[in-house]
Amino acid sequence: MTATPTAGRLTAREEFRAFADRHIAPHADAWHRAQRTPPEVVRLLADEGLLGLPVPREYGGGGGDAVTLGLLAGELGRACSSVRSLLTVHTMVAHAIQRWGSRSQRETWLPRLAAGEIVGALAVSEPGAGSDAAAVTTRLVRDGDDWVVNGHKKWTTYGETAGLFLVVGRSEEGPTALLVERDAPGVRTELIEDMIGIRASMTANVYFDDVRVPGGHVLARPGLGVSHVVGAALDLGRYTVGWGCVGILDACLEASVDYASTREQFGSLIKEHQLVRRMISSMYTDARAARLLCLEAGRLRDERDPGALAATSTAKYFAATAAGRAAADAVQIHGANGCGPDYPVQRYLGDSRVMEIIEGSAQLHQVGLAEYAFQERGLRRRQR
Ligand SMILES: Cc1cc2nc3c(=O)[nH]c(=O)nc-3n(C[C@H](O)[C@H](O)[C@H](O)COP(=O)(O)OP(=O)(O)OC[C@H]3O[C@@H](n4cnc5c(N)ncnc54)[C@H](O)[C@@H]3O)c2cc1C
Repeated sequence: MTATPTAGRLTAREEFRAFADRHIAPHADAWHRAQRTPPEVVRLLADEGLLGLPVPREYGGGGGDAVTLGLLAGELGRACSSVRSLLTVHTMVAHAIQRWGSRSQRETWLPRLAAGEIVGALAVSEPGAGSDAAAVTTRLVRDGDDWVVNGHKKWTTYGETAGLFLVVGRSEEGPTALLVERDAPGVRTELIEDMIGIRASMTANVYFDDVRVPGGHVLARPGLGVSHVVGAALDLGRYTVGWGCVGILDACLEASVDYASTREQFGSLIKEHQLVRRMISSMYTDARAARLLCLEAGRLRDERDPGALAATSTAKYFAATAAGRAAADAVQIHGANGCGPDYPVQRYLGDSRVMEIIEGSAQLHQVGLAEYAFQERGLRRRQR
């Protein structure tokens, strides 16, 4: 099987593209400036069945496969990385519940998440715990049948509006994951403004002050919060972020081709200058390569192939770093206009910086990918 979408998926991609072009792209710059995503956008995504696309049908979702989810993330990412990040964190929470939740937890939360009745957010990072998620210090203490949560989460995407937080804290058993509802007494959020990128994603500090959570809200066994629950969520997050970067690459390419085709300097269109063409040819190549890597990761995920983890990390790493290169070149091609507010490439530049930090920084992927290379070589040697 090749890494090529089937005819049905191509139709889905066209539909996602039309949706993003009509409802998201025209407003993305305004949302970026306002540092807000209007609540109607969440409603619209939910009504179109997009927020619940990967949730199994038995829980009210669309039952979409990984490749189709990727195509959606790619088209949303081309239009607006903030809205794509909404899809990312929401589906990460749903995926963690689907993978590690009990039947009762799945039946309680998945239909509400699939319908967009609540938005899910991932509250792992803290001021002192970033790449090393197992260093979280948020305290989780048992009290009878309940748990009491105390701590400060930082950088929670859509934390300002989410209805359900997947929180990872530290219990006696080690890192532990549990679900906390926004309206639980003692939960407080505070918007973090003036971010460099995904500025409309309403990233927040989330404070838990003696928040009482029923024991039935703990996901998986206490102690498995990072290794299992966050591991599953991050793997999916990496996949949709990789696709979001394919979207940024496409957007940079489209904007750069359009601009270079109309801007004249030294008596000719700048697209006639070979050094400008070099930047465009690099973007074109990177966009195609990133898409193929993401498609391959999607296919392996759908086939439940053990190689999906490495393929997802490869795709995210390549797509994120390529999006960074493309966004820098897109600004360069736009000259001063790329630095001002009238063209979207300035937004792409800030968004692409974030992509190399979230869901595993570029460096963490480099460290992990080298490990995959050694493992694969060792495996082949043993098979000889
Ligand atoms: C816009 C935005 C949205 C976010 N949304 C969320 C969210 O929804 N939920 C959430 O929980 N978190 C979120 N985060 C936080 C994100 O997960 C962290 O930023 C990320 O894990 C990196 O952690 P850090 O920023 O603390 O960097 P650090 O871990 O402090 O790393 C700093 C630098 O050191 C490097 N480094 C660290 N360790 C190693 C190593 N072992 N080898 C080589 N280099 C290393 C890193 O690559 C990086 O360059 C978000 C962040 C941003 C910017």
